[in-house]
Amino acid sequence: MIDFDALLTAYISFLLFILGTVIGSFLNVLIYRLPTGMSFQKGRSFCPSCRHELTWKDLFPLFSWVFLRGKCRYCKEKISKRYPIVELLTGTLYVLAYLFLAGGDCFSGLNLSLLGWCTALSALVVISFVDFEHQIIPDSMWITIFAGGVFVVLGEVAAGKFKWESLVGRVIGIFAVSFVFFLIGVISKGRAMGGGDVKLMAAAGFVLGWKAVILSLFLGAFAGVIYSIFSRIIRKTEMRGVVPFGPFLAIGIAVTMFVGDRIIEYYISFIK
Ligand SMILES: [Zn+2]
Repeated sequence: MIDFDALLTAYISFLLFILGTVIGSFLNVLIYRLPTGMSFQKGRSFCPSCRHELTWKDLFPLFSWVFLRGKCRYCKEKISKRYPIVELLTGTLYVLAYLFLAGGDCFSGLNLSLLGWCTALSALVVISFVDFEHQIIPDSMWITIFAGGVFVVLGEVAAGKFKWESLVGRVIGIFAVSFVFFLIGVISKGRAMGGGDVKLMAAAGFVLGWKAVILSLFLGAFAGVIYSIFSRIIRKTEMRGVVPFGPFLAIGIAVTMFVGDRIIEYYISFIK
């Protein structure tokens, strides 16, 4: 017997992956343009090296990069690996969100909550790459995460799974980590903690709720420490300047979205 439900779910996953790579290529534009203050609505995409306008053949997610062997068609300059990585990552995150956050059961998984999770995950991808290179978290991106949280709540309402208790948890979540970050920022006069991190954790708190956002902070700090150790070993050099916290917070937030509930349950059963 063929399991048609499983087949349909696999097919929808495939389509979501394609959609994710297309959105991912738009996220690449945001990652490139947001820090420079360039408009991302106006103007066609161009090669950052030779400024040649790009056609659809150059902009096909994943495939263009593979077929061009990572080089610009016009000037043969290397194209950053960031482009295919962001596309692949976004596609993968959308499929995971469909399967594990939205239930992933045929069409019922295509709901408002999935839209919310994908919106928030997309913004986290942009924040990771922008903050890593430029040490800024664009306001439009934490606002997008917040909007994702609103979609998740609306999805709960539509599915008849809304609970006031969980909404209160989200509102407390806005302040749970961000207020501590805010205080650290005030005490250190902005040296130890930037405003971007405060706003990111406020938005994440609304998406995750207060317990999970605290967990995401620990996971993010853990990821940051692991990164620092490895980059020291690999590069064998002292870390230069400040390592941005944002990308690691974003990783912590994304991991918490997927497995936070399980970690919290495990922890509670452990301390009982
Ligand atoms: Zn070029």
